[in-house]
Amino acid sequence: MPLDEFALIQRYFSRPISPDQGIVLGIGDDGAVLKLPSNEQIVVSTDTLIEGVHFPAQADPEKIAGRALRVNLSDLAAMGARPCWFLLALTLPDVDENWLTDFSSGLSSVAEEFACPLVGGDTTRGQLSITITVIGSSPAGAVLTRSGAQAGDAIWVTGSLGDAGGGLAIMEGRAIEAGHDDLLTRFWRPSPRIREGLILRNIASAAIDISDGLLADLGHIIKASDVGAEVNIDLLPQSSSLIDAVGKVTATSWALGAGDDYELCFTVAPNNAAALDKQIVEGLLMATHIGQIVAEGRLICKDTGGCVRDFPVAGYQHF
Ligand code: ADP
Ligand code: MG
Repeated sequence: MPLDEFALIQRYFSRPISPDQGIVLGIGDDGAVLKLPSNEQIVVSTDTLIEGVHFPAQADPEKIAGRALRVNLSDLAAMGARPCWFLLALTLPDVDENWLTDFSSGLSSVAEEFACPLVGGDTTRGQLSITITVIGSSPAGAVLTRSGAQAGDAIWVTGSLGDAGGGLAIMEGRAIEAGHDDLLTRFWRPSPRIREGLILRNIASAAIDISDGLLADLGHIIKASDVGAEVNIDLLPQSSSLIDAVGKVTATSWALGAGDDYELCFTVAPNNAAALDKQIVEGLLMATHIGQIVAEGRLICKDTGGCVRDFPVAGYQHF
């Protein structure tokens, strides 16, 4: 007999609650009841992943689930928030218990890694789609936003850029020969920079996570902050694996334009430069200085020689 909706939720999504996670009432009632420490504010964000749009049809359900939660956690990282809980709205074409077993195991392993338990959701029938809502917290007034950058601030990025674009190219059979599994891993298992976001809360003037490509997402910072930016394309952090796979020119264009890396792009005012340096020297933060915020409201790419370089990259647009 096929599993009914409630048995499905019970079997695949209900997990024991640990007492220290602020869950007064979890999965099973009409709503969850959650509790934050008294001086904290809620930071909430939601993202939908649709089969065929955000991941290939027939992809491994464990990977889909892990990626879905990771990309949502990345939004909390960009706000400098600590993850607390998440909700899952799942639309399934049918009840496939093997699929659900792998999906729920992928989901709960990431939930455990980031101490962010599932506290509710919705389950419906239709084309496969996954909507996750993450709930995080931050001390009142301490969040990072897109709007705080000022002329003279340095622009930084965590990690390396373009790798997930390489992973996507492999899956789509473009550009890359077999044998670059680390690039595929960067697409499927992006690292939400939660720890970095918490550190940057006291250091950065603005931050965003790079989901649509550096130029598109840094573009959001300069628009929200009403400033301009100059990026030195010779400073972009790129993995040796990506350069091996596609060469320097393509790697640079993907570092600027391909999305899905979920690194943080952030800006730092001169008076916080030393504090940032200290975090980097102590190995608490891996980040690269790639440019400067300027007063004039445009985004310009230059090389080290100072030549302006054109990269016609708009980032991914759904409509
Ligand atoms: P209602 O009919 O009141 O909206 P539901 O039948 O949708 O309630 O859900 C029953 C309980 O199961 C609720 O606590 C809901 O949060 C939880 N739930 C439903 N679907 C999921 C899911 N995919 N993951 C986690 N919890 C879920
Ligand atoms: Mg309800």
